[in-house]
Formats: sequence, structure tokens, C-alpha cells
Amino acid sequence: MTLAAFSRILTRMDVSELQSINLASIIKEPGSTSAEGVIRNEIEGGSAPLPLQGDAVWSVTVSSAGEEYWLSGEVHGTVVMECRRCLKPAPQEVDAYFQHLLQYDPAVSELTLVEGEDGADVYHFGEPDLDLSFFISQAFALAMPLTALCDESCKGLCPVCGADLNDGDCGHVVEAPVSSALADLGKFLDEV
Ligand SMILES: [Zn+2]
Ligand SMILES: [Zn+2]
Repeated sequence: MTLAAFSRILTRMDVSELQSINLASIIKEPGSTSAEGVIRNEIEGGSAPLPLQGDAVWSVTVSSAGEEYWLSGEVHGTVVMECRRCLKPAPQEVDAYFQHLLQYDPAVSELTLVEGEDGADVYHFGEPDLDLSFFISQAFALAMPLTALCDESCKGLCPVCGADLNDGDCGHVVEAPVSSALADLGKFLDEV
């Protein structure tokens, strides 16, 4: 094992970087418990990891609610998206909040979503040490904007040569297809 790989494992084992909360105390006796931590480099996304600028921070509180548990949490960070016009990095601040109903069920091996009779969704978990990465990633991804701009005034890329028009004019004149279609329509209407 290389030193780099070894130190990466050590870093991962740093408690504050684990996305989990131990619920043993409130499974034994009703109450509430909290945890918080940081996420470095990237957040696991649905299809691809979401790259971060700086650390993201999260906090979660779980409280007993009768036979169930009420989880509420938040995660804050800056995700690096791609500018939809020029494709350059476009950091976006994300503030996400989430709440879920949980049920302890030692029979399940992994987090399982069960639809309640009243339509309320309940997540069943089997380990007192609850992995929070799914809740955190899901909330973070949902709070992200669909697209991003590096700047409201971004000029984008030249469709002819691909040059970044923010860096200067490449000299190409492009007639947008939509405007020429409108011009044709105008001509047609004139003739009618
Ligand atoms: Zn841009
Ligand atoms: Zn060009």
C-alpha cells in the first residue's frame, strides 16, 4: 500500500468525516441525539459524484417519536457545476434541508423505504449506526439548481469555432436558426 493510499484511509476514518449517526442510546431509551460532520472533495451523487469547492458541512438530529424516529438535518456546501453557456466551472452555493421518518427494524440489512398506510414514507434501518450518506446526498442533489451560469453576462462559446466569447470576439457571425425561421415566417405573412 502506498503512503498516499494509507493516509487517505486514515483521513476517511476521521470521525468528523463519517456520514453516520449512532442511535443506540435512543433505541434503548426515548430521547434525541445529534451528529455533525464535514464532507471533503465530493458528495456521492446519483449517477456521478458532485465536486465540491471547499468542505460541505452537515448536521442531523434524530428524535424518538413513539415507535418511530424523526430525522431532521441540513447540509451546506458549494458544488462546482459547469456553466451552461461556456462550460467553465460555475460554483453554486447549496443549502439543503431534509426530514424523514425512520423505523428501527433489526431484520433489514440495508436502509429500506416502506410506504406507510397513510401515505407517509418510513425508512426502515437495521443497524443502530445509521448511515446518513443517502439522506445527505439526496437532499443536496435536490437543492442544486438544474443549470448554472459562470456569470449572468456569460457570452458562451462560438458555435462555429468553439472559442470562448468571454475572452474576445473570434470574428464569426452566426445567424441563429430560430431568428431566420422567424424571418421566413415574417416574409410568408407579408406575402399572404
Ligand atoms: Zn460561462
Ligand atoms: Zn468563432
